[in-house]
Amino acid sequence: MGQFQTITVRHNMEVAHRLHLLEGKCENIHGHSMWVELTLHEAVDDNGILGGMDFGTVKSFFRRHLDTTYDHHLLLNKDDPFAQPLVWAGQSELERGALPGLVTFEGDPTTENLARWIGEWAEKEYGIARGAVTVHETSVNAASYEWWHA
Ligand SMILES: [Zn+2]
Repeated sequence: MGQFQTITVRHNMEVAHRLHLLEGKCENIHGHSMWVELTLHEAVDDNGILGGMDFGTVKSFFRRHLDTTYDHHLLLNKDDPFAQPLVWAGQSELERGALPGLVTFEGDPTTENLARWIGEWAEKEYGIARGAVTVHETSVNAASYEWWHA
């Protein structure tokens, strides 16, 4: 078993969201160009590879998850009235639809919650006992989620 080290990969995602539990400007549907960092802490093997995974493998799963779940989507709390199916004028109940790109979550899609949800996914996906996810909402705001199992 080699030394423990960390590796970090980054990916961006363009998201729209609104925070319906928070009064103020975040109640408006608005967008962010977010950068997300994933850090994994694990032993490095004799070949100098952390956790037996090369950067390409770590990045491809991470990018695919962000691209399919978050990028160019509208993120809303499932309890948000705007997350409910829409009934367009003149259409029957059967023809009602949802906002294009809508993804709903348990709770408001705050930067803190996004860091936790992505972190919980990474924890399962990579099966590594210690790591962190940091979501940079803007160039001056970020939130992190860390996990560490003994
Ligand atoms: Zn926002």
